[in-house]
Amino acid sequence: MSIKVENLTHVYMPGTPFEKKALDNVNIEINNGEFVALIGHTGSGKSTLVQHLNGLLKPTSGRIEVDGTCITDGKVKLSDVRKRVGLVFQYPEYQLFEETIEKDISFGPEKLALDGEKVLSRVKRAMEIVGLNYEKYKDKSPFELSGGQKRRVAIAGVVAMEPKVLILDEPTAGLDPKGRDEILQQIKNLHNEYGMTIILVSHSMEDVAKLADRIIVMDKGKAILDGKPSLVFKKIELLESVGLAVPQVTYLIRELRNRGIDISEEIFTINQALDALTKIFK
Ligand code: ADP
Repeated sequence: MSIKVENLTHVYMPGTPFEKKALDNVNIEINNGEFVALIGHTGSGKSTLVQHLNGLLKPTSGRIEVDGTCITDGKVKLSDVRKRVGLVFQYPEYQLFEETIEKDISFGPEKLALDGEKVLSRVKRAMEIVGLNYEKYKDKSPFELSGGQKRRVAIAGVVAMEPKVLILDEPTAGLDPKGRDEILQQIKNLHNEYGMTIILVSHSMEDVAKLADRIIVMDKGKAILDGKPSLVFKKIELLESVGLAVPQVTYLIRELRNRGIDISEEIFTINQALDALTKIFK
């Protein structure tokens, strides 16, 4: 087991007129090697939850274990937690600040007291993973890049820490379709080739259906559904009641089934639909 969240509650600005319970008794376990998507309407508590997983926020009550070690009792150094659990924030490119891409990506690994050669090999590897050629980009300023490339530099900075668990909070927000697909493909590679546990915060059902082994649905600070995509996407009415939807193609399949076409209801991606429909209408 990798991460265990027990009875986690978080209240922002307690005791003020702005008091807000953002997490309400959340219990989840995330296992090594899983690809988990966290979905939910804006304000459902997704960002608050993931910021607890690398120790950035402290629970109001409840506890969190990472690999069997409690990270919420104040005894563990946060730098040790962050070596294991990397968090890529929403719009992470706003946090780029060094003059060159190489310096920006080296910033985290340098704090790990590694020797220069190890830092360099991590930087090169992280850049390769996010699809940025080391020689071509190392001396460029992050500010010369396109939006998608900037975001990749920011992701490389977290990947270079070589965490076992990588959390990405809406990594495709604001990107064009090409930039979005490239980043999603790289995240998939991190999972498939490098064995990282991935927690992807997203509100795109299409992305989630293509990538995740498991989906956790948040609503008003609670985890209201947790299971395989096939289980979660069957709960269309529940998802709609919390402002979400199933992938578009799943609505189409449902309509076809209503009209008597014998097609599996477990179709959540365009490719799955294409395969099934080709078999039926060949
Ligand atoms: P999500 O990531 O699902 O959009 P958040 O975790 O950002 O949800 O927010 C959950 C709730 O907590 C929202 O009502 C939000 O307004 C509130 N909230 C988030 N961050 C803060 C903060 N720093 N101070 C006060 N309230 C906050």
